[in-house]
Amino acid sequence: RPVVVFLGLVPFYPRANWRHYQFLVEGLPVLAERLARRGVGFVLRRYPDHRLLPLVAEVRPCLLVGDENPLRETETWREHVAAQLAVPFFTVDADVVVPTALISREQFAARTLRPRIHRLLPTYLVPGKEPVARRRWPPAPALPGLDPRGDLLAGWGPEGTRFDRSVAPVAGFRGGAAEGEALLERFIRERLDGYHHRRNRPELPGTSQLSPYLHFGQLGPRQVALAVGGAEAPAADREAFLEELIVRRELAVNYVVHNPNYDRLAGCEAWARRSLAEHARDPRLALLSEERLEAGESPDPLWNAAQRQMVETGWMHGYLRMYWAKRLLEWTASPEEAFDLAVRMNDRYELDGRDPNGYAGIAWAIGGKHDRAWGPERPIFGKVRYMSYASTSRKFDAASYIEAHAPRAPS
Ligand code: FAD
Repeated sequence: RPVVVFLGLVPFYPRANWRHYQFLVEGLPVLAERLARRGVGFVLRRYPDHRLLPLVAEVRPCLLVGDENPLRETETWREHVAAQLAVPFFTVDADVVVPTALISREQFAARTLRPRIHRLLPTYLVPGKEPVARRRWPPAPALPGLDPRGDLLAGWGPEGTRFDRSVAPVAGFRGGAAEGEALLERFIRERLDGYHHRRNRPELPGTSQLSPYLHFGQLGPRQVALAVGGAEAPAADREAFLEELIVRRELAVNYVVHNPNYDRLAGCEAWARRSLAEHARDPRLALLSEERLEAGESPDPLWNAAQRQMVETGWMHGYLRMYWAKRLLEWTASPEEAFDLAVRMNDRYELDGRDPNGYAGIAWAIGGKHDRAWGPERPIFGKVRYMSYASTSRKFDAASYIEAHAPRAPS
């Protein structure tokens, strides 16, 4: 049978804005070209013609294959479609190296997941076959669809379509598999050697910045892991990278798959919630409004620089993401509020936001998820691991980082 890929673009995907959509649509021309090279069709439609079931009626497929994604919105969509189909519907877990279904329970920490993952890697961390379709698409007459090189966001927002144009696209990241592959190659050539030491130095270009490409599926974790695993860099650097890319990332997916409260404080560890509740009435130095925090106007110059890096470039260095989320506990009235605000800002501004990694990262920073209780007990934080300005800024050249993300003079 011939194969066709369908994408239905809607303007109201939950918590997605212009910044995210721009990155997504930038990736579509190269996707269409690569599918064509493999004899596979690509039908692109947009709201209000975005629905899958009418296409199913047109094509009358013998089989439907979808992507797996653990977030609640997409899970609900798949269940809705599955209930109306008369043909088999398979989903493929291409978002992880080791299929999620093989890790049965919510894992307590990286140390409980790591041996399970490592046992299964020889089976799953192998090159894909990349087959070419024997019966080529398209059929005659061709199905109606849009040109992926067209202006696919034209006419969306501000009225009528619920399209959020309030967050502008960023110049520093261009979407698409080819762009992601070029970044991966450059990372391996220039920065993988030394990653182990440099990855916690936000003032240096040390990490891969591949997270937006992984989030949008423009790169796959298996593809990245095979490239890094086969590179010439020292073993300690390759292993440190693969620990983040596979173990930490798949721990986040495991958390979202098994924990219905993944984006709320309620999903966090009982000891941490208890301890935070015991300190909920501790005095805060200052309660800051969401507007002031969004604008990077806290009393902490390092936090403000991190916030600006996220708002202006669409990506924040990983070391500072931990500090950034934790400090919110000190400027909000309750840990629930800190958690919800971290989720809102992370999802809104990060190109890689709205991702299991984000929810797990915030749960780690604010709710002790995948972490342990720490002593001595601190005001506000209780037993949740504390990061102070002094201890955090000592570990790298904070002054250079703050300078690099200083507010720009109005032009
Ligand atoms: P690299 O160091 O080059 O790592 C390579 C890849 O490994 C990353 O692209 C990512 O996919 C994965 N990875 C790295 N660190 C982690 C980690 N701690 N947990 C899980 N996977 C990891 N990541 C997101 O993708 N989206 C988010 O919205 C997000 N929000 C976060 C919020 C907080 C509060 C915290 C503490 C972490 C968050 N992370 C998030 C995880 C991590 O910080 C980023 O994935 C990483 O900084 C992205 O930069 P990079 O691609 O240069 O990472």
